[in-house]
Amino acid sequence: MTECIFCEIVAGRAPASFVYTADLTVAFMDIRPITPGHTLVVPRRHAVTMREVDAASWTAVWDVVKRLQAALYETPGVRCEGINLFVADTPVAGQEVPHFHVHLLPRFRGDEFGLRFPPGYGTIAERAALDQQAQNIQAVLRS
Ligand SMILES: [Zn+2]
Repeated sequence: MTECIFCEIVAGRAPASFVYTADLTVAFMDIRPITPGHTLVVPRRHAVTMREVDAASWTAVWDVVKRLQAALYETPGVRCEGINLFVADTPVAGQEVPHFHVHLLPRFRGDEFGLRFPPGYGTIAERAALDQQAQNIQAVLRS
């Protein structure tokens, strides 16, 4: 046994309801669905954060996300009027299982799920501050 429940699922040592399996990635139903059809896509190779996911696994995961989002709109029993994609990268962002995963969350009017924005959200930022942030990120990308 490893410490990681998703590695146990990937290895077939813990139960899951699989939607899709491939060489680099698998998708299965979230055991605590926020709405019916709530699906997780995970790389087979253990990686905790986005930074740790290798390039091939990253591509495989997001390719499956693309396929699954289209399927969810058509799936009987899944009320899917919209979808949120969600990644919680590190616990401060809400990551509960320390193995990178993408949530596909079917949404419908009245589902009562929501995102909470901080006080002051909606204020238009100063252009100079946005330009400075953009330059700072560009500098990191170049380094
Ligand atoms: Zn793992």
